[in-house]
Amino acid sequence: TSCLPADSQDEKAQNSLQEEWNIIKDKLKKEITQAAFTNWVSPLVFSRSELHIAYLSAPTRFIRDWVATHYISRIRHLWHDVNKKIQDIKIDISHDLKTIQEIPAIAEDSFTPSSSSLAVEEDDFNPAKIGIQVDTKMSFSNFIVGKSNELAFAAAQRVAESLTPTFNPLFLYGGVGLGKTHLMHAIANKIKETNPKRKVLYLSAEKFMYQFVRALRYKTIVSFKEQFRTVDVLMIDDVQFISGKDSTQEEFFHTFNALVDQKHQIIISADKSPSDLEGMEDRLKSRLGWGLVADIHPTTFELRLSILEAKASEQNMVIDPEILSLLAQKITSNIRELEGALNRLIAYSTLVGRVLTVNMAMEVLSDLFRSNASTINIEDIQKKICDFYSIKVADLHSGKRARQVARPRQIAMYFSKTLTTSSLPNIGRKFGGRDHSTVLHAVKTVENLKNTNIQFAEELRMIQQKLQNASC
Ligand code: ADP
Ligand code: MG
Repeated sequence: TSCLPADSQDEKAQNSLQEEWNIIKDKLKKEITQAAFTNWVSPLVFSRSELHIAYLSAPTRFIRDWVATHYISRIRHLWHDVNKKIQDIKIDISHDLKTIQEIPAIAEDSFTPSSSSLAVEEDDFNPAKIGIQVDTKMSFSNFIVGKSNELAFAAAQRVAESLTPTFNPLFLYGGVGLGKTHLMHAIANKIKETNPKRKVLYLSAEKFMYQFVRALRYKTIVSFKEQFRTVDVLMIDDVQFISGKDSTQEEFFHTFNALVDQKHQIIISADKSPSDLEGMEDRLKSRLGWGLVADIHPTTFELRLSILEAKASEQNMVIDPEILSLLAQKITSNIRELEGALNRLIAYSTLVGRVLTVNMAMEVLSDLFRSNASTINIEDIQKKICDFYSIKVADLHSGKRARQVARPRQIAMYFSKTLTTSSLPNIGRKFGGRDHSTVLHAVKTVENLKNTNIQFAEELRMIQQKLQNASC
């Protein structure tokens, strides 16, 4: 009987989440075209929530994939605005909800169609099946290297080749869709090829958390621990997901130490550097930074172009170089989106049976171009910077001079100048009617700081990534 109140409480919570989903749908309806709404958003049904994750279900895989690449970050953002507890959104496929429920821990950004056949059966807990099958399509040979990812690439290769850890852990970090998961799979594939006896375990941090909680519940914690502590190479993807989860962190910390003591290799990925991970215990943060920390920077035009060339030739497609360079110019946010655009073009040209022209490409991809060209405006910048620093937008307009407001205001002005085409006076007007000289001063101050303070430069880089990534 003691669980009754909890159940009804839970039901209440699920009902209000249903309400929230209705509100979010209404908001989305105003933001996207009617057709897009009918095609992609209407079919989504709220299914449930677990921890900080809200689950929607889509009727088909295609819709799920499309929403996952085009709308999910916007949905996540809107939901978080309505309910701060919701930090992530996952989409199931309703026709085989059961299978999907058995594998609840696929991080959205580690989702690729080819890795969706994850062989994990949660119900009869079997330590041997704890990990996620490695996607053989992600290898070192098809990872294109440029300035932005060369350190991460070299470090990953080194780790895959050495039998004893050279740096432990290898910590890979960078924005969404920049190749972290690809590199981890590449490491696993390489080891499988060269040292098939080595035991490699790859899983998302969420999965780790899920397995841990499960092991607690089913009292299999001893074998859980054993399982992790006997692997030669442990990879945990998207470790930011365990922030705030104290007991999981505790367990992770112990596993981590045990493996490092035995000189087993650990590879971690996250969206931020160890020291910037919020909600993470200090001792864990510092432990994570002990080995090599390799960041993956936003892509350059050259890298995007080489990736497109490689992907086109992988599919034996000859595409007008002008079209490829158009794509590389317009789609800057992440590589997954870039690939998606190319695939859409290829599908289109195969379908209509005609050679692609620049005009056709413009038309077929017009929605993507719009969202990328984005449309980042001063209001967006202000809002995102306020989110980042947890202050109110009104503070930016106000005369407040307190440092915790003044600095974000200067940063917002700086990005308004560098990422939009607005003039200084216009920017001033949008910051509570300030003078253009104030804006100029802000821009110069930020530039100075950026050149003299590494930590600040890093913070700025993160903000810029956030501003440019979430363009949908
Ligand atoms: P992340 O884990 O950082 O969010 P992923 O590793 O999932 O990003 O990469 C997103 C997509 O882009 C994947 O399909 C991946 O194969 C591709 N990709 C990323 N970086 C590269 C690269 N340097 N060369 C080729 N493909 C890449
Ligand atoms: Mg990933």
